[in-house]
Amino acid sequence: MMAAATPPDQAARTGASRTSASRTDADAPTAGASVSGNAGAPRVNPLQRLWLREIGMERLWLRQEPAAPSRPAAAQAQQPASAPAAGAGPAAAPAAPAAAKASPAAAPAAAPAAAVRSGPPPRPPARTREASPDPAPAPTPAEVAERVRDASLEELSAQVQACTACGLCHGRRHAVFGHGGQPTRWMVIGEAPGEQEDRQGLPFVGRSGQLLDAMLASVGMSRERDVFIANVIKCRPPGNRNPKPEEIAACSPYLMRQIALLKPERILVVGRFAAQTLLGTDATIGNLRGRIHRFKDESGREIPVVVSYHPAYLLRSPSEKARAWQDLRLACSQL
Ligand code: SF4
Repeated sequence: MMAAATPPDQAARTGASRTSASRTDADAPTAGASVSGNAGAPRVNPLQRLWLREIGMERLWLRQEPAAPSRPAAAQAQQPASAPAAGAGPAAAPAAPAAAKASPAAAPAAAPAAAVRSGPPPRPPARTREASPDPAPAPTPAEVAERVRDASLEELSAQVQACTACGLCHGRRHAVFGHGGQPTRWMVIGEAPGEQEDRQGLPFVGRSGQLLDAMLASVGMSRERDVFIANVIKCRPPGNRNPKPEEIAACSPYLMRQIALLKPERILVVGRFAAQTLLGTDATIGNLRGRIHRFKDESGREIPVVVSYHPAYLLRSPSEKARAWQDLRLACSQL
């Protein structure tokens, strides 16, 4: 019997081989190279030897075993194939009676489970990039400017909603195009949408918006009738950080086209960032307030610009509201 032919020390080695080398069925030498004709020593080619050495099994596997002349030839031929099939080391295979009794015709059936491989161990499959359609490249500011050149206000709004010209498109809920009445007497320009604006898709909502509406009402103006409110940047920067120069460059064609289409009589620009961006300066808001600036639109028309504080700042610093009132009075004056 095959079980009787298994030496005790060999069975012990088999158990060790399972844990130390994690062999799989595919790790065994080929059946054709596994058993020598008369001594039971496996005969392996150089590549197989290297592989056995690699997994620490060279000495164990290639050790000369005592010949077992009483073993039937058919059982000897069956051993290598059945050993991997049992999922154990090479010495465990003979203990499987079913394998020992298998007829020659049954051997091929066992072969797939005992599939062996010669040569070096397999390498893990190469990581391949998942096939995914390449996103369209973001349009350049020049391309955005070309697209908006002849757009109507409605077309411009649709372009902003679909815009991917800068990375802010990835985090937005809504692009905030702007809102207001026409014909436009005043245009109020702020920095960028905040959280509430991003949620609602409208500019200057929440407490800042209420204060701005009150300020406009104090001089007889209304966003529903004659004031159009917009921002330099149409999508909310994460964490309300300042927009980056490349985001300003990407988004500015929309604002330029809005100004050209709306043709406001005045521009009231609120907040340091918006004032610096529109006027192309790094001067402080204290230096920019209290005087009239001129903005030249696409057609060359000059529009008077008044700089004031952002309503959000006025909420934090109510004492500055008196200065903001002066700014509104300046914007109302005959310029
Ligand atoms: Fe486009 Fe302006 Fe929004 Fe950037 S911020 S994705 S440029 S609309």
